[in-house]
Amino acid sequence: MRMRCHIEVGVSPVLALGRDVARSIILVAPERVEQVRALVQDLTLIISNDGAPRCSIDPKGKTITVSRKMLEHLWCTALAYWVLYSRHLAGRTVTKREELDLTADKQTYAAMKLLKWSIDTVIRSVDKPWPEGLYRPCVNPDHGSEVHVANELLFTAVAFLLHHELSHYRLAHSAGTERVDTIDQERDADYEAANWMLGACRGEVLVKRSIGVATAFMAMVALDIHARRYEPARHPRSIERLINTLDRYVTDPHHVVWGLTVGSLKVHLDFMNVKVHNRAFESARQAAEEYAEVLSRQPASD
Ligand SMILES: [Zn+2]
Repeated sequence: MRMRCHIEVGVSPVLALGRDVARSIILVAPERVEQVRALVQDLTLIISNDGAPRCSIDPKGKTITVSRKMLEHLWCTALAYWVLYSRHLAGRTVTKREELDLTADKQTYAAMKLLKWSIDTVIRSVDKPWPEGLYRPCVNPDHGSEVHVANELLFTAVAFLLHHELSHYRLAHSAGTERVDTIDQERDADYEAANWMLGACRGEVLVKRSIGVATAFMAMVALDIHARRYEPARHPRSIERLINTLDRYVTDPHHVVWGLTVGSLKVHLDFMNVKVHNRAFESARQAAEEYAEVLSRQPASD
């Protein structure tokens, strides 16, 4: 394999994971390693020291660029949702309205504070160093620790974004000018990337990879909700991308990935004071769909 990787020197702890980020494009689906090797031949991956969350491909230069802020935001998203889910939601069936105080547990509070830091820096376009005293990524964390899970989910989420960009290349997408064209292309790239990662796996592997895919989308959904950006110009709405993509591979409406998604979504809706119906849902999948519906009716900020 001749994939090259450039990592700019920067101050963020997430850059220590840069080599594994680059490998994720291959390691995310070991069953397709031969195919992907051919695909990434001559490809250059650049991890840029950029304070805005970006991921893009230059087809002519065969270069994919992912920014440091994108990695930071994905890591903060993965960590926060995993802490929320594993400490408060896993294994529980919620049948009636319950209040969850996210400040009562110190670790949950720290994880949410970190995610808020990431969202705020992106929305306000300010580049700030990783905050002290909160969770942070590191190489070789204790196996099974929350930092370890966040690292693994970062690798899976970023692999999805990289495969999304590769799909634009493989499907020979052009930079269309019509909104409908670009939306169709984005959807096709999502489905192609998801098929690459989720199309041939089952059980625990499907759980892990689908949570990674959901994390990649939820990182965008969170930014859209906090910026009140409900109708982006060139991409389909992020929450619809999430639901439509997962629906193709996750058929169980009670699947853990739906539980994690809907729990995370509700945190952002509550924070932004977006009201949803106070009723019981048949499944986490159904709740996710209703929350998406509520978001589609929100007035945009601009
Ligand atoms: Zn795209």
